[in-house]
This record gives sequence, C-alpha cells and structure tokens, in this order.
Amino acid sequence: MEIKPLNHLSEHLQRLIKGQLWAKVIIGIALGIALGLILNPQNGYVSASISEKAASWLDMPGQIFLRLVQMVMIPLIFASIITGIISNSSENLKSMGLRLLTYFMITTVVSITIGMVLSYAMQPGKYLNKLGGLPGSNSNSELATESVGSSSIPETIANLIPNNPLEAMITGEMLGVVIFTIIIGVAITQLPKRLFDPVIHFTEAIQKICMIVVSWAMQLVPFAVFGMMAALMARIGSDIIAGLGYYILVVFIGLVILVAFYLLVLRIFTDMSPWKFLKAVRGPQLLAFSTASSAAVMPLSMKTADNDLNVSSNISDFVIPVGASINMDGTALFQCVSAVFLAQAYGIELSLIEIILLSATIVAASIGTPAVPGGGVIILASVLEGAGIPTGGLIVIIGIDRILGMFRTAVNVTGDLTACVLFQKWFGTAKTPAPKTN
Ligand code: ASP
Repeated sequence: MEIKPLNHLSEHLQRLIKGQLWAKVIIGIALGIALGLILNPQNGYVSASISEKAASWLDMPGQIFLRLVQMVMIPLIFASIITGIISNSSENLKSMGLRLLTYFMITTVVSITIGMVLSYAMQPGKYLNKLGGLPGSNSNSELATESVGSSSIPETIANLIPNNPLEAMITGEMLGVVIFTIIIGVAITQLPKRLFDPVIHFTEAIQKICMIVVSWAMQLVPFAVFGMMAALMARIGSDIIAGLGYYILVVFIGLVILVAFYLLVLRIFTDMSPWKFLKAVRGPQLLAFSTASSAAVMPLSMKTADNDLNVSSNISDFVIPVGASINMDGTALFQCVSAVFLAQAYGIELSLIEIILLSATIVAASIGTPAVPGGGVIILASVLEGAGIPTGGLIVIIGIDRILGMFRTAVNVTGDLTACVLFQKWFGTAKTPAPKTN
C-alpha cells in the first residue's frame, strides 16, 4: 500500500521526463553539480590530477554536442534566413527588417542603461578597489583619459560586409554570414519564377537536413549537460566565486531586470501571458544556460518558436538566426557592468561623455560578440582598451566568466524568443502546422 504513491511518483517523473527536454536538462544540471562538487579537489575527496582527468572525460559529450551543432550552423543560418526572406512579401520584409534592427538596437540600449544605472547604484568595484592590487592597477591612469572608441567606427561599419563570404563561412564568423545571406536572400526574391523555385527547394532541403542532424545531436543533450556541469564544478574554485560575489550579484540582478523588461514588453504589445512564455522557453533557456552558446541553441529556439510559441516559420526563420548573431542584450549588460566594475576597481572616474562613448562602444561590441562560450569576455577586452581601463583586470573576470556566461546566454536567447513573439504579432502570417524536425 505504501509503495503505491512512490510508484505513482516514479510514473509521473517518467512521463515528465519523456519528451520533456527541460526536465532532462534540469536533472543533468543537478546531477552534474553534485558529481562536480565531489570531484573538486578543494573538497578533498580526489586529487587534483584525477579531478582534471575526470573533468576532461566528462566534458566530452558536451564537446561532441557543440561540434555537431556547430558543424551544421553555417548552412542552417544560410538556409533559414533565405527561407525566411523569400517567404515574406518584399513590403513585409522591408518593414520587418528595419523594425527588427531598430527593436534590437532599442533593447540593447535598454540593457546597457540597466547595467549603467545598477553599476553606479550598487558600485560593484568599490570593494575590490579597497582591496587594491588588481593586475595592472599601478598602470598609469592617464590611460583613463584616452578617448573611448578611438578605433575607427566608419571602418568597422564598412567591414561588416564580408569581402570574402567563403572566408566568413570557413572561419565560422556568424555576423559576416548573416549579412551576406540577407543580401543574397533579397537578391533571390528578384529572380524569375523559373529560377526562383529550384532555389527555394534547395534551401528548404538544406534546412531540413541540418535540422535532422541537430535532432540527432539533441539526443546527447542530457549527457552533455551533466558532463559539462560536472566538469565546470570540478574545476571552479569556490574562493574566486566568494571574492567576486558582489560583482556576480550585480550582473545577476541586471539580467533578472532585463528578463522582467522582456515580459513587460510582451504584456504590453502582445496577448501572450508572461507565465505561458516562460513555460515555453524554459527548454532553450536551460540549454543556453548549460552550453553558454546561443549558436548551439539556435535550432531549438526555432523549434520552440514554431511549436510552442505559435510563431510562423517566416518569422522564426528570419528573427532567430539574425537575433542569435547580433542581438545579445545579456552580453551587453554584462560588458557594461564589467567595464564599470573594473573602472571602479582601478579607481578610474568616468566622465559623463566617457560613459556615453563607452555605452556606444558596447552596443557595437555586443553586436560583434560571437555566439560561443566566453565570446562576451573576449570582446570585452577591446571595450576596455577603448575606454582606457586596464585590461589586466580581465584575468579576474575570466576566472568566473563561465558562470556569468551561462546566465547571460540564457538571457540572450530569451531576448531572441521575445522578438519572435513580438514580430509574429506585427508581421506574422497564419501559422504553418508542420513542425521542423521529425
Ligand atoms: N556566450 C554568449 C552567447 O552565445 C555570448 C557571450 O559570451 O556573451 O550568447
């Protein structure tokens, strides 16, 4: 008699897990953290060398998953954007494209504003400043007076158009591929029907093939998440997390406010309830959290938009790949808080004009950030250089960047899915019933 509820519970759990990616991911994360804590040499159960060996094996399924998805990423972006472009009327496309870019700009500016206000209100760097001794903290503060963004902005803008698209594809440079594909996609719409039809069939077939490969890779997700979390927890030092706890908290609060902003936008402009949205996007969010790469989550985001958020594929095929490449609000917020954090830690006072220039640099930096783990912190180096903040302090941030990267990537992906729902409302056609994968 007493076993009954337990049986019932396990049946319930089984049903929950079957086909519920988010539940598998949560279990993977929890078990991974538990194993990682056991394997962390700081906890004294295993030696450092055994811990490192175990971590590199545990990392393997995650690396295989990421590589499988990355393998089809460029053809998938290419095929999806073209399908998205040609399935919209040219009028629709023009206004949608412009509005999408404007929307992405606005949300990036909002996230930077949240980051700035929070950084000055909460002063994450002031404790570190009192402690002193950041790497390079004795470097000449004349650096600080260098003007921000002295690197040529017109040149950077012109360079957005890849002069060699094949090189952009081979090096996996997503932004270049996106811009090239948009130009080619618009050109395809000008073709006569005789040439237009085979191109559509071809790109649709490529998209389908990529999604089939992705659905194979997705089978690995629970193991990938488990292994990556275990390896992360085995490697990370608890002392570094404790030392930077306040700074981590400020970034975290900023990201929560940003998500609240997305929910507010949905509430105001669409009829989607925040609860329904959060429930639908938990799969992509958790995968983004575990992999720290919005590129790796792109196929799942497209599937979620189509199947769970009722977005038609002419919207998701365009918004998701473009968003995954250029719309990184979580990253912008992180770069903003981190730059101010390091400035405060070095005792550098930024003037109002320097803050504005720093913000402008971060808008460009977040657009150019590659959607891979740690992309945001790599690009942060050039933001700091432009603002005259010593880059030596990055070493402190890099130690905990994986953790921040997981949270900001989940927010980046949430931002893209928010845009999908919004653009479905503004530009969506009747929903195509067929799901993207088998
Ligand atoms: N990993 C992030 C992403 O893929 C970029 C970043 O590191 O901020 O969205």
